[in-house]
Amino acid sequence: MLTFEDDIPAARLAPTAPRTADTIRAQSVGTIGGGLLSREPVHDLDVERQQPATPTGRVRLEDKRVINGQADVNQLVPFKYKWAWEKYLAGCANHWMPQEVNMQRDIELWKNPHGLTDDERLIVKRNLGFFVTADSLAANNIVLGTYRHITAPECRQYLLRQAFEEAIHTHAYQYIVESLGLDEGEIFNAYHEIPSIRDKDEFLIPFIEVLTNPRFTTGTPEADQQLLKSLIVFACIMEGLFFYVGFVQILAMGRQNKMTGSSEQYQYILRDESMHCNFGIDLINTIKLENPQLWTGEFRDEIAELMRRGVELEYRYAEDTMPRGVLGLNAPMFKEYLRFIANRRCQQIGLDPLYDKADNPFPWMAEMIDLKKEKNFFETRVTEYQTGGALNWD
Ligand code: FE
Repeated sequence: MLTFEDDIPAARLAPTAPRTADTIRAQSVGTIGGGLLSREPVHDLDVERQQPATPTGRVRLEDKRVINGQADVNQLVPFKYKWAWEKYLAGCANHWMPQEVNMQRDIELWKNPHGLTDDERLIVKRNLGFFVTADSLAANNIVLGTYRHITAPECRQYLLRQAFEEAIHTHAYQYIVESLGLDEGEIFNAYHEIPSIRDKDEFLIPFIEVLTNPRFTTGTPEADQQLLKSLIVFACIMEGLFFYVGFVQILAMGRQNKMTGSSEQYQYILRDESMHCNFGIDLINTIKLENPQLWTGEFRDEIAELMRRGVELEYRYAEDTMPRGVLGLNAPMFKEYLRFIANRRCQQIGLDPLYDKADNPFPWMAEMIDLKKEKNFFETRVTEYQTGGALNWD
């Protein structure tokens, strides 16, 4: 009988051999095609190439890789990717729940027929219409896609935390919809029915589907580039750009003492999303460092083009949600803002800025835990973490 101490390489086990610690370990090592989440059986070939790198199965630092790693993914230590572990700890220190935020003033304001203008109500509904499903797409992308293809356990640990945060965000938007008594069918179907929202999601979904396709595996230059591209679209365009018009709009309301409960929810979400975006950027840069052959001129051009497309789509959303000036905001201000953010995202992953002159028209966003804390591993380390889930409004 095999025991945990047995040292028989998994590849030598017959396909019908009982599942022992060794076979289970071998099947969960790496995520190349098979692994515990695969819908397909792990055949001998997969087991063979997924063996632990050392005969004893003890993971050495140098064996770890962010993608296509061969080391046992169940051994979190020794830490190689400390930036990922630190972000996991920071995420836990920032824990919060939507029902901790008092929504009473929002309810009174929303129900008062003179409380908000039609344009302000449109902003709230469009915002929720985008976000109620966007964070669900984000969660699917992590749980059904990204997680399988990342072979560094420190990064997987952060992704588990991030997946829960996406659930909290969906909860927060649902909590606002319920508190205000909005038409749930209308809000939850906006991503099908409102063109400016649908277009953003239709842009994103093919990149999510690449990673969630059970037949997709990394390990070739083409597949690794596909993974990298999807990670860039997810971190830099979805979380790093598409969320920002919506955040500015609701936080601008809060600054004018309107929808203060919703604004506080969004502020917590923004804090989490800044971290998601930073984690994604560190992940992308580490994959680039470990696989420099993927970062070709053609690939960079393709990413720049996707970024430009993202700016166009988000600008169209800004125009749709703000047909007139409202709250001291107007759509043209967002053109500048989106260019500013896109330039920053490009620089964060090592691309040249896309737009010549782009300043931040909303410097107050930096005070809302935005760019001030968007420091990543490759720049400086974030040290200003909240603990216990309380925001400081000073
Ligand atoms: Fe996120």
